[in-house]
Amino acid sequence: MEKKFRVLLFYKYQTIDDVESFVAEHLAFCKSIGLKGRVLVGTEGINGTVSGTIDQTNQYKDFVHSLAGFEDLWFKEDEADTYAHKKMFVRPREEIVALNLDDDINPLELTGKYLNPTEFRDAITSDDTIVLDTRNDYEYDLGHFKGAIRPDIRNFRELPQWVRDNKEQFMDKKVVVYCTGGVRCEKFSGWMIREGFSDVAQLHGGIDTYGKDPDVRGDLWEGKMYVFDERIAVDINHVNPTIVGKDWYDGTPCERYVNCANPECNEQILASPENEAKYVRGCSAECRRHPRNRYVAENNLSTQEWESRLNAIGESLSVSDIA
Ligand SMILES: [Zn+2]
Repeated sequence: MEKKFRVLLFYKYQTIDDVESFVAEHLAFCKSIGLKGRVLVGTEGINGTVSGTIDQTNQYKDFVHSLAGFEDLWFKEDEADTYAHKKMFVRPREEIVALNLDDDINPLELTGKYLNPTEFRDAITSDDTIVLDTRNDYEYDLGHFKGAIRPDIRNFRELPQWVRDNKEQFMDKKVVVYCTGGVRCEKFSGWMIREGFSDVAQLHGGIDTYGKDPDVRGDLWEGKMYVFDERIAVDINHVNPTIVGKDWYDGTPCERYVNCANPECNEQILASPENEAKYVRGCSAECRRHPRNRYVAENNLSTQEWESRLNAIGESLSVSDIA
């Protein structure tokens, strides 16, 4: 049965002269129809994900397509059972994806070759091609293309330095890059060309488009795709799905993300409900005995119960960091 909600993922690099009034009008429209989500607006364009009923998302698409320069904006759509966001934000930003280059790249002037899903599949199975995931480490760890390189970065703005440090891996090869919906690769592939990489291509429309393509149907994708909304993980491979996520505590297959219960840490980790309880959702011994551990508070654990759970894994509340 067709679901009643839609999630839209979209971006467009297109010069916006008056960001402030664009933001105000955009937010007013979204609120007037009851849409939810997050849209970033900069002089370089817009980047967003929103959710709502079929009617709300149709109204939003018509609205965006009525804006000068955005008539052909490409919306990627998912069906959903409910909203994928809690609130509606439209925010001004220096960049619609933060790469923080000293000398910014305009993808309208410099960007990598676009590959459609079939071309991308051919490219990533070819021996002389390097596949680079441009997303963050925790996104990669939930799912990625078979054989893709995992940059050791927590944030997109760290990627240029990482590539410079690991240059020897790519310099004389063809490079293909991919990301969730394509917006990061537009800029990043342009940067790689400027850095001197001669043959750089990008997956047009991102993993999202690849998973929906009727010919490739997500083939060669392993695990799930991380998304920055309430759903967290979505299916991509409809040919032979696998699980690559691993439980933080015992390494068993897992696709359930939780945030470390230490509010000062908040590290995103994969954990089963059993291990979450066993380890009071702390990513380290220090986080497990942190005085403001949120798992302990949420579950009203007595100090005695907290201590006995830590004892069961060979730890204690009373351990001093100095000892
Ligand atoms: Zn932690």
